[in-house]
Amino acid sequence: MPDPEPDDMSVSMASLERTGGEVSPVPMLEVGNPDPLQNEYFTSYEDVEIHRLMVNDKPRTDAYADAILKNKHLFEGKIVMDVGAGTGILSLFMASAGAKKVYAVEASGIANVIEKVSVENGFGDVIYVFHCKVEDVLLDNEKVDVIVSEWMGFYLLHESMLNSVIYARDKFLAEDGTVFPSEARIYACPCTLQTLYREQVNFWDSVYNFNMSAVKEYALKSKMVKPEVCLVSKSDLLAEPTCIKTFNLRWVTEEEVKTFTETTFVAITRPGLYQGLCLWFECDFDGRDYDEDGKEYGSIITLSTSPSRPPTHWKQTVVVLGYGTEAANQQADLSCQEADDSGGQGRGHEPQVNESDEGLKSSESTNQDSGHMSTSAHHRSSSECEPLECKHNKDDFQVNPDYEVDEDEVVGWRIAFAQSNNKVRHYTMTVEMLDPETEEHPIPCACPMARCLIIAKMMEREEMGEDQEIAEKEEEEDFIDCT
Ligand SMILES: [Zn+2]
Repeated sequence: MPDPEPDDMSVSMASLERTGGEVSPVPMLEVGNPDPLQNEYFTSYEDVEIHRLMVNDKPRTDAYADAILKNKHLFEGKIVMDVGAGTGILSLFMASAGAKKVYAVEASGIANVIEKVSVENGFGDVIYVFHCKVEDVLLDNEKVDVIVSEWMGFYLLHESMLNSVIYARDKFLAEDGTVFPSEARIYACPCTLQTLYREQVNFWDSVYNFNMSAVKEYALKSKMVKPEVCLVSKSDLLAEPTCIKTFNLRWVTEEEVKTFTETTFVAITRPGLYQGLCLWFECDFDGRDYDEDGKEYGSIITLSTSPSRPPTHWKQTVVVLGYGTEAANQQADLSCQEADDSGGQGRGHEPQVNESDEGLKSSESTNQDSGHMSTSAHHRSSSECEPLECKHNKDDFQVNPDYEVDEDEVVGWRIAFAQSNNKVRHYTMTVEMLDPETEEHPIPCACPMARCLIIAKMMEREEMGEDQEIAEKEEEEDFIDCT
């Protein structure tokens, strides 16, 4: 969906204000005068249809509602901040949970709407709107007790606003404060891509009885150079999902999210055509605590974008593997185009709009290049950017989409994430397939190869030994206490 022209937007916002009429009692704190051309992200995000899709993403919004309303103890009487508030739905949840003061930080023009929404829901004196980037917010040394943000992007990081959340946390969060979500995890799993191949690749096998396999190879190569945002069905996964990275949002640093590499080996549990690496994420909102009697209260809520959970607008991200004649050590650099720089906080790239909500339920793969599919792609992308455009550095790549894996076969990959230096929201993902026989496995490794099994057993014993020691020591101490 093309972004609205900045001019159009300013007209629409102006008319909105005119129809509003009265002066709102909510303090509207405007910092600077963002140049729409320099901040196209903030203008594009004003599109209300995108906000409808986000709010209407039930697993997403339900998770936030539950996380806040089932953990009221974190919010009652507290000062809280909503980073990238959008239409203000999360701010409303927090105000409903009894927050004393909610700072809703939103850089785009939709901030004007939050103000009205707050007043019309009786929270005009609770929700304070900052119409600026969180980096420009000034609070006079006041600290907030909770920071809530829906910052996640594709495969968690791409187009995310994690850096802004880290910035807000380090600047505004009280020492014993809470960040929601509290933990985020990236998962990976080998998968088959039958639907995608059937519809977009194998189509070229025979066209009006002509052999167009050359186009097929071309089509497959084009898929290999950029990750696909699509829904993968649970039955397309060929192994147990592996958590390849965990971030504790209370403590994670900018340095830790800048670059990291994870090596994984797993055993195939479902034989099939190994055609892709499926990536997704989960976030926990852990509001649990203990009272004086040691009794637990509060809840932990998980937002999952796994293929085995109801679909979300993030769908899954698939790295299409085009196996060549040598199955191992193929490398595909998956990087963003460097052409645009929307800069600043928040997602520069909006979800493309589904024609209907059916798009989320569809199991069809989606791709920007795929005509009718593009309307349901729901990319967080704007028209001026190919958000998941990648480059492939191997021209002589031989494509073989029929790499079959058997049950118990071990497959491995190394995946590197690197943040762009000048655009923190952009990541380059590099995937390298590994030969499990020759490559070093991580310790511990969950694969069933003999060496890894032995190491896992040894570590288990060591842990048990330690537990035993601790138990014995405690017993001793107890004994001494008693005398
Ligand atoms: Zn292993």
